[in-house]
Amino acid sequence: MTRIHRIAAIGGDGVGPEVTSATLEVLEKVAQLDGGVSFEVDSFDWGSDYYRRTGRMMPEDGVDTLRPYDAILFGAVGDRDIPDHITLWDLRLAICQGLDQYANVRPTRLLPGMRGPLRVELGEQIDWVIVRENSEGEYSGVGGRAHSGLPLELAMDIAVFTREGIQRIARFACELASRRPRKTLTIVTKSNAQRHGMVLWDEVCKSVSSEYPELEVKWMLVDAMAASMVTSPSDHDTILATNLHADILSDLASALTGSLGNGATANLNPEKQAPSMFEPIHGTAFDIVGKGVANPVGAFWSAVLMLEHLGEKKSAEILMSGIEEICATGPYTRDMGGQATTRDVTEELVRHFDKSG
Ligand code: ATP
Repeated sequence: MTRIHRIAAIGGDGVGPEVTSATLEVLEKVAQLDGGVSFEVDSFDWGSDYYRRTGRMMPEDGVDTLRPYDAILFGAVGDRDIPDHITLWDLRLAICQGLDQYANVRPTRLLPGMRGPLRVELGEQIDWVIVRENSEGEYSGVGGRAHSGLPLELAMDIAVFTREGIQRIARFACELASRRPRKTLTIVTKSNAQRHGMVLWDEVCKSVSSEYPELEVKWMLVDAMAASMVTSPSDHDTILATNLHADILSDLASALTGSLGNGATANLNPEKQAPSMFEPIHGTAFDIVGKGVANPVGAFWSAVLMLEHLGEKKSAEILMSGIEEICATGPYTRDMGGQATTRDVTEELVRHFDKSG
Protein backbone atom coordinates (compact mmCIF):
# COMPACT_ATOMS: atom_id res chain seq x y z
CA MET A 1 0.00 0.00 0.00
CA THR A 2 1.28 3.46 -0.87
CA ARG A 3 1.96 5.83 2.01
CA ILE A 4 0.66 9.27 1.08
CA HIS A 5 2.18 12.40 2.62
CA ARG A 6 0.54 15.79 2.28
CA ILE A 7 3.15 18.49 1.76
CA ALA A 8 2.63 22.27 1.90
CA ALA A 9 5.19 24.03 -0.32
CA ILE A 10 5.94 27.70 0.38
CA GLY A 11 8.58 28.94 -2.05
CA GLY A 12 8.45 32.46 -0.57
CA ASP A 13 10.84 35.12 -1.87
CA GLY A 14 14.04 35.49 -3.89
CA VAL A 15 15.45 32.20 -5.10
CA GLY A 16 13.11 30.33 -2.71
CA PRO A 17 10.53 29.42 -5.39
CA GLU A 18 13.29 28.32 -7.82
CA VAL A 19 14.91 25.85 -5.44
CA THR A 20 11.57 24.69 -4.04
CA SER A 21 10.16 23.77 -7.44
CA ALA A 22 13.40 21.90 -8.29
CA THR A 23 13.01 20.00 -5.01
CA LEU A 24 9.41 19.02 -5.76
CA GLU A 25 10.51 17.68 -9.13
CA VAL A 26 13.22 15.59 -7.52
CA LEU A 27 10.84 14.32 -4.81
CA GLU A 28 8.50 13.00 -7.50
CA LYS A 29 11.37 10.96 -8.88
CA VAL A 30 12.35 9.69 -5.42
CA ALA A 31 8.76 8.56 -4.84
CA GLN A 32 8.84 6.58 -8.09
CA LEU A 33 12.10 4.89 -7.11
CA ASP A 34 10.93 4.13 -3.60
CA GLY A 35 7.74 2.58 -4.90
CA GLY A 36 5.85 2.77 -1.60
CA VAL A 37 5.41 6.47 -1.10
CA SER A 38 3.68 9.38 -2.78
CA PHE A 39 3.36 13.08 -2.09
CA GLU A 40 0.33 15.28 -2.44
CA VAL A 41 1.68 18.80 -2.74
CA ASP A 42 -0.20 22.06 -2.31
CA SER A 43 1.76 25.21 -3.13
CA PHE A 44 1.15 28.52 -1.36
CA ASP A 45 2.20 31.84 -2.88
CA TRP A 46 2.79 33.50 0.50
CA GLY A 47 5.64 35.96 0.95
CA SER A 48 6.55 39.51 0.02
CA ASP A 49 4.59 39.71 -3.26
CA TYR A 50 1.57 38.38 -1.42
CA TYR A 51 2.18 41.15 1.15
CA ARG A 52 2.25 43.80 -1.61
CA ARG A 53 -1.10 42.52 -2.87
CA THR A 54 -2.86 41.91 0.44
CA GLY A 55 -0.99 43.75 3.22
CA ARG A 56 -0.19 40.41 4.88
CA MET A 57 2.66 37.89 4.46
CA MET A 58 0.14 35.05 4.65
CA PRO A 59 -3.59 34.88 5.31
CA GLU A 60 -4.79 35.45 8.86
CA ASP A 61 -5.59 31.75 9.20
CA GLY A 62 -2.31 30.72 7.49
CA VAL A 63 -0.99 28.70 10.43
CA ASP A 64 -4.30 26.83 10.74
CA THR A 65 -4.26 26.17 7.00
CA LEU A 66 -0.88 24.47 7.41
CA ARG A 67 -1.84 22.42 10.48
CA PRO A 68 -3.36 19.40 8.66
CA TYR A 69 -0.30 18.88 6.45
CA ASP A 70 2.34 16.25 7.22
CA ALA A 71 5.23 18.61 6.46
CA ILE A 72 6.10 22.01 5.06
CA LEU A 73 8.81 22.69 2.49
CA PHE A 74 9.95 26.27 2.73
CA GLY A 75 12.16 28.30 0.35
CA ALA A 76 13.28 31.68 1.68
CA VAL A 77 11.78 34.95 2.85
CA GLY A 78 12.93 38.58 2.72
CA ASP A 79 12.56 41.65 0.56
CA ARG A 80 14.63 44.72 -0.13
CA ASP A 81 11.63 47.05 0.38
CA ILE A 82 9.87 45.39 3.30
CA PRO A 83 11.52 45.34 6.72
CA ASP A 84 12.65 42.01 8.21
CA HIS A 85 10.43 42.46 11.24
CA ILE A 86 7.51 42.03 8.83
CA THR A 87 8.83 39.46 6.34
CA LEU A 88 10.53 37.22 8.87
CA TRP A 89 8.25 37.60 11.87
CA ASP A 90 4.96 37.44 9.95
CA LEU A 91 5.80 34.41 7.84
CA ARG A 92 8.67 32.14 8.81
CA LEU A 93 8.68 32.86 12.53
CA ALA A 94 4.89 32.98 12.68
CA ILE A 95 4.84 29.44 11.27
CA CYS A 96 7.66 28.17 13.55
CA GLN A 97 6.01 29.63 16.63
CA GLY A 98 2.41 28.90 15.66
CA LEU A 99 3.22 25.24 15.02
CA ASP A 100 5.54 25.01 18.05
CA GLN A 101 8.52 23.89 15.99
CA TYR A 102 10.78 24.22 18.99
CA ALA A 103 13.73 22.17 17.74
CA ASN A 104 15.84 23.54 14.93
CA VAL A 105 18.19 20.89 13.63
CA ARG A 106 21.07 21.47 11.26
CA PRO A 107 23.31 18.63 10.10
CA THR A 108 26.75 19.82 9.07
CA ARG A 109 29.38 17.89 7.18
CA LEU A 110 31.48 18.29 4.09
CA LEU A 111 29.61 16.80 1.15
CA PRO A 112 31.77 14.90 -1.34
CA GLY A 113 33.51 17.28 -3.72
CA MET A 114 33.26 20.19 -1.31
CA ARG A 115 36.22 21.99 0.20
CA GLY A 116 35.80 24.30 3.14
CA PRO A 117 38.38 26.82 4.36
CA LEU A 118 39.94 24.41 6.89
CA ARG A 119 42.91 22.15 6.17
CA VAL A 120 41.58 19.03 4.46
CA GLU A 121 42.22 16.68 7.40
CA LEU A 122 40.35 19.05 9.76
CA GLY A 123 37.48 19.74 7.35
CA GLU A 124 36.89 16.03 6.92
CA GLN A 125 36.42 15.65 10.67
CA ILE A 126 33.29 17.79 10.63
CA ASP A 127 30.23 15.69 11.29
CA TRP A 128 27.91 17.65 13.56
CA VAL A 129 24.24 18.05 14.19
CA ILE A 130 23.49 21.40 15.75
CA VAL A 131 20.31 21.47 17.84
CA ARG A 132 19.01 24.99 18.34
CA GLU A 133 16.29 25.96 20.81
CA ASN A 134 13.83 27.53 18.42
CA SER A 135 11.02 28.97 20.53
CA GLU A 136 12.37 31.19 23.31
CA GLY A 137 15.70 32.36 24.73
CA GLU A 138 17.23 35.49 23.28
CA TYR A 139 14.76 35.61 20.36
CA SER A 140 11.61 35.49 22.49
CA GLY A 141 10.45 38.82 21.08
CA VAL A 142 9.88 40.11 24.60
CA GLY A 143 11.11 43.64 25.18
CA GLY A 144 10.32 47.16 24.21
CA ARG A 145 11.44 50.70 23.68
CA ALA A 146 10.67 53.83 25.64
CA HIS A 147 11.42 57.58 25.54
CA SER A 148 11.50 57.48 21.77
CA GLY A 149 13.89 60.02 20.23
CA LEU A 150 14.97 61.46 23.59
CA PRO A 151 18.49 61.24 24.98
CA LEU A 152 16.93 58.94 27.58
CA GLU A 153 15.73 56.51 24.93
CA LEU A 154 16.04 52.87 25.91
CA ALA A 155 15.54 49.53 24.21
CA MET A 156 15.39 46.10 25.81
CA ASP A 157 15.35 42.56 24.47
CA ILE A 158 14.63 40.06 27.18
CA ALA A 159 15.99 36.54 26.95
CA VAL A 160 13.29 34.20 28.20
CA PHE A 161 14.27 30.76 29.52
CA THR A 162 11.62 28.44 30.89
CA ARG A 163 12.21 25.16 32.70
CA GLU A 164 9.84 23.38 30.33
CA GLY A 165 11.35 24.99 27.24
CA ILE A 166 14.85 23.89 28.26
CA GLN A 167 13.70 20.44 29.33
CA ARG A 168 12.09 19.62 26.01
CA ILE A 169 14.99 20.77 23.84
CA ALA A 170 17.53 19.08 26.12
CA ARG A 171 15.58 15.83 25.96
CA PHE A 172 15.36 16.11 22.18
CA ALA A 173 19.13 16.66 21.91
CA CYS A 174 19.90 13.76 24.26
CA GLU A 175 17.64 11.41 22.28
CA LEU A 176 19.26 12.50 19.02
CA ALA A 177 22.80 12.16 20.39
CA SER A 178 21.94 8.69 21.71
CA ARG A 179 20.89 7.56 18.24
CA ARG A 180 24.15 8.73 16.66
CA PRO A 181 27.15 6.39 16.69
CA ARG A 182 29.45 8.58 18.75
CA LYS A 183 26.91 9.18 21.55
CA THR A 184 28.52 12.52 22.34
CA LEU A 185 26.66 15.69 23.28
CA THR A 186 28.26 19.11 23.62
CA ILE A 187 26.13 21.55 25.63
CA VAL A 188 26.95 25.18 24.88
CA THR A 189 26.45 27.80 27.56
CA LYS A 190 27.54 31.23 28.79
CA SER A 191 26.64 30.91 32.44
CA ASN A 192 29.94 32.43 33.52
CA ALA A 193 28.69 35.82 32.31
CA GLN A 194 24.91 35.51 32.32
CA ARG A 195 23.83 34.63 35.79
CA HIS A 196 20.15 33.82 35.49
CA GLY A 197 18.74 32.32 32.29
CA MET A 198 21.98 30.55 31.42
CA VAL A 199 22.30 29.14 34.92
CA LEU A 200 18.80 27.66 34.65
CA TRP A 201 19.83 26.35 31.21
CA ASP A 202 22.82 24.58 32.80
CA GLU A 203 20.80 23.16 35.69
CA VAL A 204 18.05 21.75 33.50
CA CYS A 205 20.39 20.44 30.78
CA LYS A 206 22.47 18.73 33.48
CA SER A 207 19.44 17.12 35.05
CA VAL A 208 18.02 15.88 31.72
CA SER A 209 21.35 14.63 30.37
CA SER A 210 22.01 12.70 33.60
CA GLU A 211 19.13 10.43 32.51
CA TYR A 212 21.29 9.31 29.56
CA PRO A 213 24.30 7.54 31.15
CA GLU A 214 25.37 6.18 27.74
CA LEU A 215 26.10 9.72 26.54
CA GLU A 216 29.42 11.48 26.86
CA VAL A 217 28.42 15.04 27.77
CA LYS A 218 30.80 17.94 27.24
CA TRP A 219 30.22 21.52 28.38
CA MET A 220 31.57 24.48 26.40
CA LEU A 221 31.30 28.25 26.79
CA VAL A 222 30.02 29.64 23.51
CA ASP A 223 33.16 31.67 22.77
CA ALA A 224 35.42 28.67 23.38
CA MET A 225 33.04 26.59 21.28
CA ALA A 226 33.50 28.88 18.27
CA ALA A 227 37.25 28.36 18.53
CA SER A 228 36.95 24.62 19.11
CA MET A 229 34.79 24.12 16.01
CA VAL A 230 37.64 25.57 13.95
CA THR A 231 40.58 23.97 15.72
CA SER A 232 39.22 20.58 16.87
CA PRO A 233 36.11 19.66 14.85
CA SER A 234 36.28 16.01 15.88
CA ASP A 235 35.72 16.91 19.55
CA HIS A 236 32.03 17.42 18.78
CA ASP A 237 29.12 15.47 17.39
CA THR A 238 25.65 16.56 18.57
CA ILE A 239 25.71 20.17 19.74
CA LEU A 240 22.96 21.76 21.88
CA ALA A 241 22.76 25.54 22.15
CA THR A 242 20.31 28.38 22.79
CA ASN A 243 18.50 30.24 20.04
CA LEU A 244 21.13 32.99 19.67
CA HIS A 245 24.21 30.87 20.29
CA ALA A 246 23.14 28.17 17.85
CA ASP A 247 22.20 30.80 15.27
CA ILE A 248 25.77 32.08 15.27
CA LEU A 249 27.47 28.68 15.57
CA SER A 250 25.35 27.36 12.67
CA ASP A 251 26.61 30.07 10.36
CA LEU A 252 30.16 29.29 11.42
CA ALA A 253 29.43 25.62 10.73
CA SER A 254 28.07 26.36 7.26
CA ALA A 255 31.08 28.56 6.45
CA LEU A 256 33.38 25.72 7.49
CA THR A 257 31.71 23.32 5.08
CA GLY A 258 31.74 25.41 1.94
CA SER A 259 28.84 27.02 0.14
CA LEU A 260 25.79 28.48 1.84
CA GLY A 261 23.82 26.95 -1.02
CA ASN A 262 24.42 23.41 0.27
CA GLY A 263 23.13 23.50 3.85
CA ALA A 264 19.73 22.46 5.12
CA THR A 265 17.76 22.84 8.30
CA ALA A 266 14.67 21.38 9.94
CA ASN A 267 12.26 23.19 12.25
CA LEU A 268 10.72 20.31 14.14
CA ASN A 269 7.67 19.75 16.24
CA PRO A 270 9.20 16.51 17.56
CA GLU A 271 5.97 15.15 19.04
CA LYS A 272 4.34 15.54 15.59
CA GLN A 273 1.41 17.43 17.06
CA ALA A 274 1.80 19.84 14.14
CA PRO A 275 3.75 19.73 10.88
CA SER A 276 7.46 20.46 10.86
CA MET A 277 9.14 22.75 8.34
CA PHE A 278 12.21 22.07 6.21
CA GLU A 279 14.30 24.67 4.40
CA PRO A 280 17.70 25.40 2.89
CA ILE A 281 19.87 27.57 5.15
CA HIS A 282 20.50 30.21 2.51
CA GLY A 283 18.27 33.25 2.21
CA THR A 284 16.73 35.04 -0.73
CA ALA A 285 20.02 35.63 -2.64
CA PHE A 286 18.50 38.53 -4.58
CA ASP A 287 21.69 39.06 -6.57
CA ILE A 288 21.00 35.87 -8.52
CA VAL A 289 17.21 35.73 -8.47
CA GLY A 290 15.50 34.92 -11.76
CA LYS A 291 18.77 33.88 -13.41
CA GLY A 292 18.15 30.19 -12.83
CA VAL A 293 21.59 29.72 -11.25
CA ALA A 294 20.69 29.11 -7.60
CA ASN A 295 22.29 26.04 -6.07
CA PRO A 296 19.40 23.68 -5.22
CA VAL A 297 21.48 21.26 -3.09
CA GLY A 298 20.52 22.84 0.26
CA ALA A 299 16.85 22.59 -0.67
CA PHE A 300 17.33 18.97 -1.79
CA TRP A 301 19.04 18.16 1.51
CA SER A 302 16.14 19.78 3.39
CA ALA A 303 13.85 17.30 1.62
CA VAL A 304 16.05 14.48 2.98
CA LEU A 305 15.45 15.83 6.49
CA MET A 306 11.73 15.93 5.72
CA LEU A 307 11.72 12.32 4.53
CA GLU A 308 13.58 11.22 7.66
CA HIS A 309 11.05 13.04 9.84
CA LEU A 310 8.19 11.41 7.94
CA GLY A 311 9.75 8.01 8.66
CA GLU A 312 10.56 7.43 4.96
CA LYS A 313 14.02 5.98 5.56
CA LYS A 314 14.39 4.38 2.14
CA SER A 315 13.43 7.55 0.25
CA ALA A 316 15.72 9.61 2.48
CA GLU A 317 18.65 7.32 1.69
CA ILE A 318 17.87 7.35 -2.04
CA LEU A 319 17.81 11.14 -2.12
CA MET A 320 20.88 11.65 0.10
CA SER A 321 23.01 9.24 -1.90
CA GLY A 322 21.88 10.99 -5.10
CA ILE A 323 22.89 14.36 -3.64
CA GLU A 324 26.29 12.99 -2.62
CA GLU A 325 26.76 11.56 -6.10
CA ILE A 326 26.07 14.84 -7.90
CA CYS A 327 28.16 16.77 -5.39
CA ALA A 328 31.07 14.45 -6.13
CA THR A 329 30.75 14.60 -9.91
CA GLY A 330 29.10 17.94 -10.65
CA PRO A 331 27.73 19.80 -12.46
CA TYR A 332 28.39 22.68 -10.08
CA THR A 333 26.59 25.99 -9.79
CA ARG A 334 28.64 29.18 -9.64
CA ASP A 335 28.81 29.32 -5.85
CA MET A 336 30.58 25.96 -6.03
CA GLY A 337 32.98 27.11 -8.70
CA GLY A 338 31.09 25.88 -11.79
CA GLN A 339 28.84 27.30 -14.47
CA ALA A 340 25.79 25.05 -14.11
CA THR A 341 22.24 26.24 -13.71
CA THR A 342 19.64 25.04 -11.21
CA ARG A 343 18.09 23.06 -14.06
CA ASP A 344 21.40 21.38 -14.99
CA VAL A 345 21.88 20.17 -11.42
CA THR A 346 18.27 19.03 -11.10
CA GLU A 347 18.36 17.18 -14.41
CA GLU A 348 21.63 15.51 -13.50
CA LEU A 349 20.12 14.25 -10.27
CA VAL A 350 17.02 12.99 -12.08
CA ARG A 351 19.29 11.29 -14.66
CA HIS A 352 21.24 9.67 -11.84
CA PHE A 353 17.97 8.32 -10.42
CA ASP A 354 16.88 7.08 -13.83
CA LYS A 355 20.16 5.21 -14.19
CA SER A 356 20.11 3.74 -10.69
CA GLY A 357 16.39 2.82 -10.93
P1 ATP B 1 18.68 37.06 3.15
O1 ATP B 1 18.70 38.46 3.61
O2 ATP B 1 17.34 36.57 2.74
O3 ATP B 1 19.39 36.12 4.09
P2 ATP B 1 20.96 37.41 1.43
O4 ATP B 1 21.04 37.46 -0.05
O5 ATP B 1 21.44 38.55 2.23
O6 ATP B 1 19.47 37.02 1.78
P3 ATP B 1 21.78 34.77 1.39
O7 ATP B 1 20.60 34.47 0.56
O8 ATP B 1 21.98 33.87 2.55
O9 ATP B 1 21.74 36.18 1.99
O10 ATP B 1 22.99 34.76 0.39
C1 ATP B 1 24.24 35.36 0.53
C2 ATP B 1 24.97 35.19 -0.80
O11 ATP B 1 25.25 33.79 -1.00
C3 ATP B 1 24.08 35.58 -1.98
O12 ATP B 1 24.39 36.85 -2.39
C4 ATP B 1 24.38 34.57 -3.05
O13 ATP B 1 25.35 35.05 -3.95
C5 ATP B 1 24.94 33.39 -2.31
N1 ATP B 1 23.94 32.33 -2.27
C6 ATP B 1 23.01 32.10 -1.29
N2 ATP B 1 22.25 31.07 -1.59
C7 ATP B 1 22.68 30.61 -2.77
C8 ATP B 1 22.28 29.53 -3.59
N3 ATP B 1 21.28 28.69 -3.29
N4 ATP B 1 22.94 29.36 -4.77
C9 ATP B 1 23.96 30.17 -5.11
N5 ATP B 1 24.38 31.18 -4.37
C10 ATP B 1 23.75 31.42 -3.20
